[in-house]
Amino acid sequence: MMVLDLQCANEHFFEGWFGNSEAFYRQKGAGEIRCPVCDDNQINQVLSPVAIKRSPRFSKEEEAVDLAAGQVQQFYKFIEDNFEEVGTDFTKEALKMHYGVTDKRNIRGSSTTEEEKILKEEGVEFHKIPFPKKEN
Ligand SMILES: [Zn+2]
Repeated sequence: MMVLDLQCANEHFFEGWFGNSEAFYRQKGAGEIRCPVCDDNQINQVLSPVAIKRSPRFSKEEEAVDLAAGQVQQFYKFIEDNFEEVGTDFTKEALKMHYGVTDKRNIRGSSTTEEEKILKEEGVEFHKIPFPKKEN
C-alpha cells in the first residue's frame, strides 16, 4: 500500500491509498478517484515538497552579481594599492604632475567642482569613480 497526497481541481487536499502507483494512475485515468469534499474527479498528485525544493545553488543571475561584486572589490583594492592617497590636495598634485613639477604617479583624492573645472581647462586627464567610504 502507498499513500499519496492528492488535490482536486477545486484545490481540496486529501490522501489516497493505493496498492501501487499503477493502481493510482489506472483509477485516476478512469475517473474513479473522487474528492471527498466536492466529489470532483480531476485529481492530481501533489508533489512532495522535497521534489520541488529549490536548489540551494546560486542561480546564473546571482552568480553574475556575485562575480561583479568581486570584480568591483578587486578594482578598489587595485586603486588602493596603486594610487597614492592625496586627499583634498588632488587638484594641486595633479597640476604639479601636469606641469612636470613632480614625477607622474598614480594619485587619488577628492576635488571640488571648481577644481575639476580648472583641471579640465588645463587639459589634465582625470577620472571620477564612486569610492566607498571606509567603515573604520
Ligand atoms: Zn474537491
